[in-house]
Amino acid sequence: MSESNAAKDPSSRTRGKAPGILPGLLQGMVTTAKSALRPTHTAEYPHAEPTLPPRSRGVIALLEENCTSCMLCARECPDWCIYIDSHKETIPATTPGGRDRQRNVLDRFAIDFSLCMYCGICVEVCPFDALFWSPQFEYAEYDLRDLLHEKERLGGWMATVPPPPALDPAAAEPAEVTAANRPERGRP
Ligand code: SF4
Ligand code: SF4
Repeated sequence: MSESNAAKDPSSRTRGKAPGILPGLLQGMVTTAKSALRPTHTAEYPHAEPTLPPRSRGVIALLEENCTSCMLCARECPDWCIYIDSHKETIPATTPGGRDRQRNVLDRFAIDFSLCMYCGICVEVCPFDALFWSPQFEYAEYDLRDLLHEKERLGGWMATVPPPPALDPAAAEPAEVTAANRPERGRP
């Protein structure tokens, strides 16, 4: 066979390499057998509940009592999918000669989960700990409009928010605790 004919014949290219194929083939079969015997990690949802990490981003819960209607979360939301309405209420002075105070009253707080991209910015920026992540994810709807959760529904998710993780015993003492424990000036 001429040199050009040998290049066209595929069997002539593999003929000299046959001993190298068998170990590779056996190794592949051993790997397949090992994988087949290993326990599966796939949860057959919805027949089996998946085990999710406690900090999974499933849905956002609202603790209404903590919300001051400061609008920070709505302003920072990149998708503009948080809707807040509030009004001011006057609280009469409690002491004679005192001044009346004003406070915001939350009328509406809604998140449109059909627009939300689960970035978590709203939860991070809230200065009053009014928003929390819940791992609950079973709220799919047939109609996109039903993914607009009003404050009553957002408040209902609070029951599914996991407790915060325990403090790290090796962590440094918080600065405010150190400051509170510092002796007053002029005292030993
Ligand atoms: S998670 Fe992100 S996109 Fe969703 S409501 Fe919060 S800030 Fe907006
Ligand atoms: S940032 Fe927090 S306190 Fe301010 S409006 Fe949003 S949820 Fe309420």
